[in-house]
Amino acid sequence: MTTADQPVLPSTDELRARARASLERIGVSPPDGADLAARTPLTGEDLFGLAASGPGDAERAIEAAHEAFLAWRATPAPKRGELVRRLGELLRAHKEDVADLVTVEAGKIRSEALGEVQEMIDICDFAVGLSRQLYGRTIASERPGHRLAETWHPLGVVGVISAFNFPAAVWSWNTAVALVCGDTVVWKPSELTPLTSLACDGLLARAAAETGAPRAVHQLLLGGRDVGERLVDDPRVALVSATGSTRMGREVGPRVAARLGRSLLELGGNNAAVVAPSADLDLAVRSIVFAAAGTAGQRCTTLRRLIVHRDLADPLVERLAAAYGKLPVGDPFDARTLVGPLISTAALDRMRETIARSEKEGATLLAGGERRLADAAPHAAYVAPALVRAPEQTAVVREETFAPVLHVLTYDTLEEAIALHNGVPQGLSSSIFTRDQREAEVFLSPEGSDCGITNVNIGTSGAEIGGAFGGEKDTGGGRESGSDAWRAYMRRATNTVNYSGTLALAQNVSFL
Ligand code: NAD
Repeated sequence: MTTADQPVLPSTDELRARARASLERIGVSPPDGADLAARTPLTGEDLFGLAASGPGDAERAIEAAHEAFLAWRATPAPKRGELVRRLGELLRAHKEDVADLVTVEAGKIRSEALGEVQEMIDICDFAVGLSRQLYGRTIASERPGHRLAETWHPLGVVGVISAFNFPAAVWSWNTAVALVCGDTVVWKPSELTPLTSLACDGLLARAAAETGAPRAVHQLLLGGRDVGERLVDDPRVALVSATGSTRMGREVGPRVAARLGRSLLELGGNNAAVVAPSADLDLAVRSIVFAAAGTAGQRCTTLRRLIVHRDLADPLVERLAAAYGKLPVGDPFDARTLVGPLISTAALDRMRETIARSEKEGATLLAGGERRLADAAPHAAYVAPALVRAPEQTAVVREETFAPVLHVLTYDTLEEAIALHNGVPQGLSSSIFTRDQREAEVFLSPEGSDCGITNVNIGTSGAEIGGAFGGEKDTGGGRESGSDAWRAYMRRATNTVNYSGTLALAQNVSFL
């Protein structure tokens, strides 16, 4: 935000003090060291030096989580739910503190940082209910006097690897559900958001102490990809749930598969919305701007491609360009700001490269793209979200650039719109804006969007926790959060019980 051309950003000292105060209220002291820097994208400067976890720490954490699992799996699920209920209560009490850390480390604007913590509270509520609903089925047996059923059992240690852009919520989706399922968790958060992870771990430790759960059900490992790789390669880690780029997923998936472990991959998206001729344009414009420019374009579900019917393209683009021109970019703690900083100047470089490549491929930059506040914060990366009109879906449009660049494409028939929509490697989130029920149903049908999330008259981002979250193709195929995503965190046993007193073999086989 600028006031009379005077940029007002908090200083690194102020942000350091704010982060320390939040951690203190939560009851956590960061481990002093020089291996890893806690950093803030608000100024692009370091806050504290931290000790990272070494190979010995990783070994100890996995062993402790494995030992804890042996007892935790035998604790009744509703009792396990009490730990998660307490975590949810502590998150309510420290909502502002965790949100402060999310803003300091990930640069989210206030309402989105608070929204991220709300999502954690919501998944805790969901998981507490789930702790009494880990249902198996009873299946009709083909034999008299037999009962056929399935039972869901705890799986083991879950290794959670998470990305910088949801530094707390993704952890909670995995951890709240894994804990009620009877698993224990070892978490390797993004190296860019260590303070937020220390806060989450601290709150869970308090919840464990207050409910009598073993502290070792949750372990935190700080560090980079080398620390993550220890979880990937260790056979005691039954499930690796990894959220991040498709590049990371391509490294992690095959390594876990090589040891026949399970993985749950939540990777990049390149999400699109179709705007059909009957769309309510007021609603569409607001949805599009939030989905494309919100979170400074740094959500996996960010809207990156807009596929507009040719008849609407000019007026819609004009309205979007006007809205983009008014987006306040700046200090995410300022309630007037809608767009905070990018995570790093490297992300800004990638955004500029994308726009330059797109222009080379024939596209026109219609709004935004310019760096802001460079004098006030030379190490930070504030940028005006970019709106680009592309003549076709070129190579650069088919890639995920993790920054606010929205490419606008045009179509003539719904079939063509769906082909453009599905013509990218990723398959996370999608929308159609239409008042035509037939079009909406086609978009949701097997011949429609090929994504894991398919919406009508709402943008691509901002999913609720009640649904299963995840996507297809290069997005990795995993599902987390609500619905029956919990099944990925458990193992299924099929039970045949013979109470007939005689032996009857299946398929009428006779033997002895
Ligand atoms: P990233 O891939 O750089 O890092 C993610 C995590 O993986 C970090 O903790 C990192 O240390 C770890 N990591 C990286 N390589 C690894 C390896 N070989 N072995 C083990 N661990 C490894 O991603 P990022 O920049 O932090 O986040 C942005 C990306 O995450 C975007 O592509 C975004 O779309 C994606 N994302 C996806 C979802 C989803 O649910 N689908 C959610 C959030 C973010």
